[in-house]
Amino acid sequence: MNDFTGKNILVLGGSRGIGAAIVRRLASTDGLVAFTYAGSRQAAEDLASETGATAIRTDSADRSELITTVAGRGALDVLIVVAGALVLGDPLEIEADAVDHMIDVNVRAPYHAAVEAARRMNENGRIIVIGSVNGDRMPFAGGAAYALTKSAVQGMVRGLARDLGPRGITVNSIQPGPTDSDMNPADGPMAATMHSFMAIKRHVRPDEVAELTAYIAGPHGAMITGSLQTIDGGFGA
Ligand code: NDP
Repeated sequence: MNDFTGKNILVLGGSRGIGAAIVRRLASTDGLVAFTYAGSRQAAEDLASETGATAIRTDSADRSELITTVAGRGALDVLIVVAGALVLGDPLEIEADAVDHMIDVNVRAPYHAAVEAARRMNENGRIIVIGSVNGDRMPFAGGAAYALTKSAVQGMVRGLARDLGPRGITVNSIQPGPTDSDMNPADGPMAATMHSFMAIKRHVRPDEVAELTAYIAGPHGAMITGSLQTIDGGFGA
């Protein structure tokens, strides 16, 4: 198990789901973890009490708020961007404002947070963005805008890996498939359809994504950069 003792870690979007699992995983091996939340104050406070991590209210859609929070954490060793929005539906019907908000949270925020973190990140730092296998494959209707955001993350990590490689900083995306969370419950109405696309027909567990994240964030991840790490039960195969 990787040891994060003394590592300065910021998880953007850690109050619930995959982000909360990552906070638990990294805090359990003594990382100095701070995480942000937007709407789920009680969940954030409960997680902070449980893990010893620091909860900070920051709306990822608000660029100046986001940049202030990232800068306020000083020289990070690890930045993990998890916060994400999901808007599905007929592109002729869904609200343009909802689509733009999703682009703000899923695309603009990871980019600006990564750049701000890089200004003062320690050598051999780690930047990880939770993308999605939908950046590679969108096998059902109604997901064009969401897929757009996750494909954008792919280009971003490839490019930033080149920019930051000289400092030993790695930049990667972890791409989950259907993962049990409030966003996509394992017993939700879409579950059977999603399982039909998978080789292993169950949702991924958030702790499985957290374990992969810990590997990439740890010392053994030093030569993994500009990469897309897919954990999807074969959804994209
Ligand atoms: P959840 O809806 O369960 O949790 C979303 C998390 O993101 C919450 O902690 C939420 O905080 C935070 N968040 C959302 N909007 C903002 C915002 N504007 N500012 C700050 N924090 C925000 O989702 P998941 O855990 O399932 O998803 C996490 C990531 O994984 C997302 O990027 C998602 O696209 C991706 N993903 C998920 C998959 C799945 O099947 N679940 C599959 C592939 C990728 P709060 O409640 O405090 O607002």
